[in-house]
Amino acid sequence: MSRQEKSIVRSLMVSLRDLYCGTSKKLSVSRNVICSKCSCSGCKGSGVKLVKVYYYGLVVQPCNECRGTGERETMSNNCCPGCKGDKVVQEKKIVEVHVEQGMKNGQMITFPGEGNQAPKTDSGDIVVVLVQWSHPKFQRMGDNLAVEHTLSLTEALSGFQFALTHLDGRKFLIETNPVEIVKPDSYKTVNDEGMPVHKKPDMKGKLEDLRNEEIKIKQAQAPEVYDEDDYMHRAAEMCSQQ
Ligand SMILES: [Zn+2]
Ligand SMILES: [Zn+2]
Repeated sequence: MSRQEKSIVRSLMVSLRDLYCGTSKKLSVSRNVICSKCSCSGCKGSGVKLVKVYYYGLVVQPCNECRGTGERETMSNNCCPGCKGDKVVQEKKIVEVHVEQGMKNGQMITFPGEGNQAPKTDSGDIVVVLVQWSHPKFQRMGDNLAVEHTLSLTEALSGFQFALTHLDGRKFLIETNPVEIVKPDSYKTVNDEGMPVHKKPDMKGKLEDLRNEEIKIKQAQAPEVYDEDDYMHRAAEMCSQQ
């Protein structure tokens, strides 16, 4: 057997939280399987069998039960009540998809040989493509995560702190130095809080240490448009009033 049936490709919707924490999901896939009523049970319709031969090990040989035809001798195929001569029937296959920490949108997970079957052909694969729906708060950029947070002018000028709930439900504090002035559209980076790195072989078991997170701090929209010099001027004004 050298030909292989085409792969069955199915998409699986996952959340960013699923990719962050890892999860398992069951997916029902309909596939063709060899009809058991008219196919040889010895070789499951393939016509060949793997036989253990002394000295040579496992050798492919024509099936002795059906003499290589793959068919059940007592059954006339045209009137098989199971498949009506198609030699295959449809069935639902449940595959359990292990979504590992750090996997990405568009990543493919292959289940070799679990797809369509056909007589005298290698079984096809089932390929599951992960499709991540967008998260209302977090945005993924490679192994980094970005969060947009809007500050009031007072917070931008005199420091701020807020509790951020992470994808796994954990809360942690984001804060600035009280004397730090935050400019509009600036970034604050929190190390080790981004996405886990998927299958980094030399960094196993240290996923937490590999996370990076960028917190994008957005200035609240001021009533009028001002340029950066004006902004710094207002900052100086506010500081002198205190
Ligand atoms: Zn057979
Ligand atoms: Zn049949």
